[in-house]
Amino acid sequence: MSVLTDLYKEIALCQKCEIARSRTRAVPGEGAENAEIMFIGEAPGYHEDQQGRPFVGPAGQYLDRLLASINLKRQDVYITNVIKTRPPSNRDPLPNEIVNCQPWLDRQIELIRPRMIVTLGRYSMAKFFPGTTISKIHGTVQKRSGVLYFAMYHPAAALHQQSLRQAIDADMLKIPAFLAEAKNIVETKLVPPPKPAQEAELPQQQQLKMF
Ligand code: URA
Repeated sequence: MSVLTDLYKEIALCQKCEIARSRTRAVPGEGAENAEIMFIGEAPGYHEDQQGRPFVGPAGQYLDRLLASINLKRQDVYITNVIKTRPPSNRDPLPNEIVNCQPWLDRQIELIRPRMIVTLGRYSMAKFFPGTTISKIHGTVQKRSGVLYFAMYHPAAALHQQSLRQAIDADMLKIPAFLAEAKNIVETKLVPPPKPAQEAELPQQQQLKMF
């Protein structure tokens, strides 16, 4: 049993929001515990609520195709949502639901420590890129503390609008190069710092004088 599966149990028991009473299952998230890349959507829909798994309906099938376009499978990445319970009739998540669910998402990020976080749609974008709009920043990346944040349109929106579909397809294709860059950041951080100047850089003559 891993810390992450313990967390899933806690999420399944959570009753902080009214919507917990109407759910079939909580949908904590799934994927590789050591995933380098984490996708964060909005909220479970009907199919996700039935199965307890994120992105398994039509939007999820599209997400699978997007992943395949960059040679990734679901098992290679981690997929979750801003909120872990389906809002009735798929309405938008309420501010208090987002606040109540925030510690779960924060804990998932802490445990998985992805090198790249990809936000899918407005709600997850708002957490990592506050005060902007998705039409302005989709397909762009921000680097903070060694992690890359990348915003994309939501696959469900792109399913219904051809122009968004072209944008999301193109944005997905940018991910491999950014991920390679994210790995580079971490690896660079792991290189040991140079020796202190006194020992390493003083000319030999000067070093000898020190004794
Ligand atoms: N839309 C989401 O945002 N998340 C899901 O899990 C499914 C559809």
